[in-house]
Amino acid sequence: MYRFILLFALVGCAAPQAHGTLSSRTLEAAGDPLCSHRVPEKACVLHHPELTAEFKRLGDWCEEHSVPESQCLICHPDLTFDALPTLPESADLKWLAREGEAVGDLVPLAVKGKVTVFDFYADWCAPCRKVDLYMYGVLSRRTDVALRKLNVISWETPLAREQLKDAATLPHLIVVGRDGRVIKRMSGLDLPALEAAIAEGGS
Ligand SMILES: [Zn+2]
Ligand SMILES: [Zn+2]
Repeated sequence: MYRFILLFALVGCAAPQAHGTLSSRTLEAAGDPLCSHRVPEKACVLHHPELTAEFKRLGDWCEEHSVPESQCLICHPDLTFDALPTLPESADLKWLAREGEAVGDLVPLAVKGKVTVFDFYADWCAPCRKVDLYMYGVLSRRTDVALRKLNVISWETPLAREQLKDAATLPHLIVVGRDGRVIKRMSGLDLPALEAAIAEGGS
């Protein structure tokens, strides 16, 4: 719970108890045209007040700004609603955990001869979307980079307890080089550092 509060603190949200969680309901409309509120028009509660009850039921509601947490650009300036690009067949992307299940030692799960990026994320993590957008771009261009995604779900799941004891926030990324060496562990959004770690891992 402490780290959950810390997450909100890091993204600049005061009074975390007034805030809900970000559900993936808004992202289901990702890639659709944005409305004047800069969210996908189809999911916008200001344009479609009838959706309000559904978001509240999901716990996805910012009381302070009266919009879904997953549409609150004041609390989450990192939100992005771009659709992820369609990946070519050659892209090396797999989910190691979809429901917060434990996975054990990560080292043998790294792909030999490739740079492997282990990506711990959750639907309620707005900056995790930016990692997706960046990594999908990398996977579209390169076959020597593997992305392994792990859905943490919450800080209380077996996966979080097993792998994220020292992680301050999400996204949490571990980059393993072609030779199996751990190049970098990082918590929080830092795309230049991720880019540098991938470059180092591939050299
Ligand atoms: Zn709108
Ligand atoms: Zn808000």
